[in-house]
Amino acid sequence: MQQLFFAHQTLRKTDTRSGVADRKPVKQTPREGEASFQAIAEAIPAPLALSNRQGETAYLNKAFVQLIGYTLDDIPTVADWLSRACPDAQYRQRVAESWQDNLEKARHTNGVFAPMEMDITCKDGTVRTFMACTVTLKSFAGTHLSILHDITERKLTEHGFQVAATTFVSQEGMLITDADHVILLVNGGFTQITGYTAEEAIGRQPDMLNSGRHDTNFYAAMWKSVRRTGSWEGELWNRRKNGEIYPGQLVITAVKDKGGIITNYVVTFNDITLNKAVAGEIENVAFYDPLTYLPNRRFLLDRLHQALSLSNRTGRQGALLFIDIDNFKDINDTHGHAVGDLLLVETANRLQSSTRTGDTIARLGADEFVILLENMDDDEHAAAAKAEAVGEKIRVAIGRQYFINDLIHYCTACIGITLFRGSPKTMEEMLQRADAALYQAKKAGRNKLRFFDSAIQAAITAKATMEADLRRAVSEQEQFLLYYQAQVDSSGRLVGAEALVRWNHPVHGMVSPAEFIPLAETSGLILPLGHWVLTTACQQLAAWAAQPGTAHLSLAVNVSAKQFSLPTFVDEVIALVDYFGVNPVNLKLEITESMMVGNVDDIIAKMTALKARGIIFSMDDFGTGYSSLQYLRRLPLDQLKIDQSFVRDIATDVNGKAIVRTIIAMAQSLNLNVIAEGVETEAQRQILLSKGCTTYQGYLFGRPVPVEQFEKLLKQG
Ligand code: C2E
Ligand code: MG
Ligand code: MG
Repeated sequence: MQQLFFAHQTLRKTDTRSGVADRKPVKQTPREGEASFQAIAEAIPAPLALSNRQGETAYLNKAFVQLIGYTLDDIPTVADWLSRACPDAQYRQRVAESWQDNLEKARHTNGVFAPMEMDITCKDGTVRTFMACTVTLKSFAGTHLSILHDITERKLTEHGFQVAATTFVSQEGMLITDADHVILLVNGGFTQITGYTAEEAIGRQPDMLNSGRHDTNFYAAMWKSVRRTGSWEGELWNRRKNGEIYPGQLVITAVKDKGGIITNYVVTFNDITLNKAVAGEIENVAFYDPLTYLPNRRFLLDRLHQALSLSNRTGRQGALLFIDIDNFKDINDTHGHAVGDLLLVETANRLQSSTRTGDTIARLGADEFVILLENMDDDEHAAAAKAEAVGEKIRVAIGRQYFINDLIHYCTACIGITLFRGSPKTMEEMLQRADAALYQAKKAGRNKLRFFDSAIQAAITAKATMEADLRRAVSEQEQFLLYYQAQVDSSGRLVGAEALVRWNHPVHGMVSPAEFIPLAETSGLILPLGHWVLTTACQQLAAWAAQPGTAHLSLAVNVSAKQFSLPTFVDEVIALVDYFGVNPVNLKLEITESMMVGNVDDIIAKMTALKARGIIFSMDDFGTGYSSLQYLRRLPLDQLKIDQSFVRDIATDVNGKAIVRTIIAMAQSLNLNVIAEGVETEAQRQILLSKGCTTYQGYLFGRPVPVEQFEKLLKQG
């Protein structure tokens, strides 16, 4: 320090910016003041300079000499300083002008200069950028004190960013924040995407762009990742100034200084709304068939993959159906491709209406369709039956006529089916299996359905054969017989019989009704068969009525739900009763609780109509279905028939006994009589009797037998 011409003043008094200029000066001797100023100035790590109004350089601190290199000897005047620091004349001119300008302005700002940025050529020739903060110390005859902040590093990065930001003429947005996430800089892309101008954005935090669709954890994890790894890249929802939410692709990069401390974050981002839409389009093209809009092979494979793992988890069966239109080429060849296309579109529609929403329908090739059924039964045979039912529905649907361009077309399809349950089957293997099944179907002729699994195919074929046999038997009416099983009262007197149908199959011999009744139900054959049973039963009742020894016998006839729901059922029964002159009180119709899931009012109406003619009703298999006192009370019943499963347990099981007791009590409270079926032992009969059940049916009294044997039994008493 050579000339400290303000040293007679205290430093405190010079502090005009902090608004303490008017405070009373702290009493200090000039020497002390100089010493304390020097101590402080030397301790400041930034270059500091003093110049007087005469344009002389008055003081340079240690940091100045160290960083910039010049001493007071090098730059005794401000002019010297300028010519050394700014060797370029033009630049020097500009700096001098803005200095002058600032000096003028500082008059109105209490001597505080606007910060001035300048490139300074140091003594060693390097050029560094400084931000000069200057204040005019009025009380010291207009001495200027300048502190110079080295912003070279910051300027370089900023410059780099600026270049980067401005080079992005595309929609890419960019922003730079400081270490505390305060936005320092944004580019045009930012404004374009977000709607915020630079003025609105700078100084704020980028969380003004948060969409609200991600929680705080998401952002915390994002920033944590940036701090840890130096960057983060990903998609997220952002919000524009107008409130609109858009998908953004974002890259955040941390900028670190030489010491590895984060100084800035650079965020670049894109609005990917369009990309998303395009991606959707591409996905459509990639996953859907453009003609029918059905999923394509790729989509199917994707689904199949999921279906396999789902099936693996749940243990449930799935099925894959391959459908191929028979001789599709002929349609194309004779009617043209346009008609062929329309037919395929219509086929796709029919496939859709033949399946449920969860099923996948795909088009693999020209006339090849695939249906994926998931989440079926655990049981393979039950699943096979369902898959077959769907296949049949499809086969029939495709077989219906097509109206295309005012012409009627016909076509059929073959269907190959394979079942699957999880791994280890691969997708390709499954596709091959379904294809192999389809090949078998094609080999068998048009309009066929085949399973890959030979055992299943055998079972399905056997069922189909059985159904065909049943159909023939029903139309010929020669293979059915009615067997009669005795019903007795507590004294052992024969009061009647239950008519039980028997099928004497030409090859298989006697087929159990437990086997063919369900088949007759699903195929609808139960209607003609049931009619035959009713007719035969009425005929038998009429025959018994003619004999004094049998005239009192009642005959119970099983009626299936399908039969009962026929609108003509009441008329049919009454016509038969009238035709054979049957005493209606001897005709007992056995219905089941499973019927009650249908239209109960209709059932009640029909029962009431038949009951008005004197016909009797018994509830078969009572206790196994949905037993509700509510509907029991509404039904015009005469009898409850305790199911044999309860009777079986009655002698051994406490619960069985309790159930039977309850059923009997229920029947008594409803004023119904009770019959127990499946009575096989005297012990069972004794217990039933002790509980109040006085009518029985079961092997104890006789098995179901042909009428001649039954009548023999009757004669024997
Ligand atoms: P259901 O109506 O409950 O008939 C009773 C079944 O139990 C008969 O079997 C009969 O043979 C059997 N059964 C009788 N007593 C005993 C016994 O003491 N122990 C054992 N273990 N079983 C006994 P079936 O004849 O095989 O008939 C089975 C089912 O087929 C019948 O059950 C009925 O639901 C149905 N069914 C039979 N005939 C006809 C018919 O003409 N029309 C309709 N719709 N269904 C019928
Ligand atoms: Mg029965
Ligand atoms: Mg029964």
